[in-house]
Amino acid sequence: MVIFMVHENCGVVGIFSLDGRNVVPFVIDSLRALQHRGQEAWGVAVPGKKPYRQLGLVSSSASEFQKIVKVYKSSAAIGHVRYSTLGKSTLDNAQPLKVKDLCVAHNGTIANVEQLSGMVGGCTFTPQTMSDTLVAAQRLVMHLEERGDNMTSAMQILKSEMVGSFCFTFLTDAGAVYAARDPRGFRPLVLGYHKETNTYMVASESCALSAVGAQLVRDVEPGELVKMSERGIESQQFANEKPHAHCAFEYTYFAHPSSIMEGINVYAARKRIGQFLAKKFPIADADVVVPVPDSARPAALGYAQQLGLAFEEGLLKDRYSKKGSMRSFIEPYQNSRVEINKGIIPIREVIEGKHVVIVDDSIVRGTSSAEIIKTLRRAGARKISLVVTYPPIRYPCYAGIDFPSQEELVAYQQDGAETSSSIIGERVANVIGADYVAYNDTSNLAQAIGMPEQELCFTCSTGDYTSLGIRPQFKTRIEMKGE
Ligand code: SF4
Repeated sequence: MVIFMVHENCGVVGIFSLDGRNVVPFVIDSLRALQHRGQEAWGVAVPGKKPYRQLGLVSSSASEFQKIVKVYKSSAAIGHVRYSTLGKSTLDNAQPLKVKDLCVAHNGTIANVEQLSGMVGGCTFTPQTMSDTLVAAQRLVMHLEERGDNMTSAMQILKSEMVGSFCFTFLTDAGAVYAARDPRGFRPLVLGYHKETNTYMVASESCALSAVGAQLVRDVEPGELVKMSERGIESQQFANEKPHAHCAFEYTYFAHPSSIMEGINVYAARKRIGQFLAKKFPIADADVVVPVPDSARPAALGYAQQLGLAFEEGLLKDRYSKKGSMRSFIEPYQNSRVEINKGIIPIREVIEGKHVVIVDDSIVRGTSSAEIIKTLRRAGARKISLVVTYPPIRYPCYAGIDFPSQEELVAYQQDGAETSSSIIGERVANVIGADYVAYNDTSNLAQAIGMPEQELCFTCSTGDYTSLGIRPQFKTRIEMKGE
């Protein structure tokens, strides 16, 4: 199957107050808490109005908040923060989107969007110009019209037509909020309750619930459709598929450390990952363990504690540079990613003359790692070992994380498809200038997360696309993005 790499991995929320309170302030605060899932654009939708959408961080619209809260006042709303690599970051691609009387926000990737677009009137699809979310929303609206607005039935059909991952929040002009999670549960989605205002909410992560003082009730189940309305919470399964395929990369990099997903706290999981790596790769002659900021910090701490080594903050982000506080991986353009990693400041007193073990969450292209190794060498490191919490990334993700084309993945470039992790580690060490690179493996990582390996997705490492039901033909970067 030829598939386009169209990414809409993001953060979504959906909120409904049974007491009729204005939930728009909750939307804004919860989206701020999900900012690590998308830095490019944000938006909010309420019934009967065109969605409000803005480029940039939620906080960059702070001067507008009072006006937004007043103009969009509603007891039902959905919201979105966007992270994408699709063409340019334009306002047209920001979400929520509106099709007829349905507003939609989406976290995930619809991999067969070209095929799906043929079902909504044959519009011309190019990955640079059209959103997979818009195509899915148009198709859903068609199904709703044919099925007397029965959302469960419409989702059953849509799900069978789509390949990929999704966590959707929907809002109807009649004021009902829906949330749907794909049958494999690739991306996280949780249900919460704010007691003081009798308000239900769904969000990509529980950190968004905490941000507004709501309690985590439970995960939205894979294949579940939740409806929030004056009748309270209603739930139906639109699909039942096993095994689940929760994204392992959420646990090592993407999710917020404070979040709880499938009953597992992300911070605790990351610390355990470090402990398990220390047992697998004990670098006994190391002088100091240093995290690559920020995601790998708990793993580095776990690694150091397990081996009784010193843990130090030897690399700091320059939070005052233009993009210093941003996450480099989810920046859409390579020059921005490099700019962020150039803004990492070493502390010479921690590094000079030492064998430094740095712990990082992943190596994708290798350019960021090479930049960090250079920084450590300039600061006088005697020897540099890099321990990576995620296994070698050798294959593109079609379930919502923006890895580049396969040809750009540094692990794949080292004959990665056939070679063992230890040999890839040796070769990648040469490429990035480290003395030693140790990659995690899927079994060790699953055990550290605390979930059966078969319930986690590791496709980007193994190349096994069974859970998506596809055998993709990989495209080049130019084919994917037109650049
Ligand atoms: S392919 Fe990798 S990044 Fe994508 S969902 Fe699976 S584990 Fe996550």
